[in-house]
Amino acid sequence: MNRGLLIVLSGPSGVGKGTVCTALRGKLPELIYSVSATSRQPREGERDGVNYFFKTREQFQDMIARDALLEHAEYVGNYYGTPREFVEKTLAEGKDIILEIEVQGAIKVKEKFPEGVFVFLLPPSLNELRQRIVGRGTETQATIDHRLSVAIEEMNLLYHYDYAVVNDQIDSACSRISSIITAEHCKRERF
Ligand code: 5GP
Repeated sequence: MNRGLLIVLSGPSGVGKGTVCTALRGKLPELIYSVSATSRQPREGERDGVNYFFKTREQFQDMIARDALLEHAEYVGNYYGTPREFVEKTLAEGKDIILEIEVQGAIKVKEKFPEGVFVFLLPPSLNELRQRIVGRGTETQATIDHRLSVAIEEMNLLYHYDYAVVNDQIDSACSRISSIITAEHCKRERF
């Protein structure tokens, strides 16, 4: 059986990774989603085990010590990481899995899974990105400024990725990612 594809969707904070990923999962129901662990507090409406596995910092550090994470990063004061076992099991079962993670974590995944498909989501412009971060309404001014400066640094890491997709319209960004997945399957097709 062929192994599944590991797809990493990354890009700066506020670019709409979460929204695009949710829309993509609606379009490709067979695509498995990796639920991350985080030490940040749940936002309104977020559910444990669905949006994230919510952990205390101590629980998260214990996961790091047990090597239970494929990658982890500290982002704006909180830990985020990808549970390893679920990803490895899904790929071994021949199913495709998508990770929606920030840029540093994606680069660490690339070191371990160079055969993965790395997609960088870009905002149509920096101004648009600021509007999206502000528009979320959940962040303080200091957090907005910090996220924006991190975003600018992250854009410079685009060269690590296989594909760049501009998130101008959710539907067209999804269609392009879906085409990338199809093309990557064709690339690996064997008798
Ligand atoms: P938020 O707090 O807005 O849910 O997420 C903040 C950032 O963490 C986003 O850029 C999101 O993509 C990223 N993120 C979510 N899960 C993971 C993960 O497992 N690993 C890494 N490295 N980043 C993650």
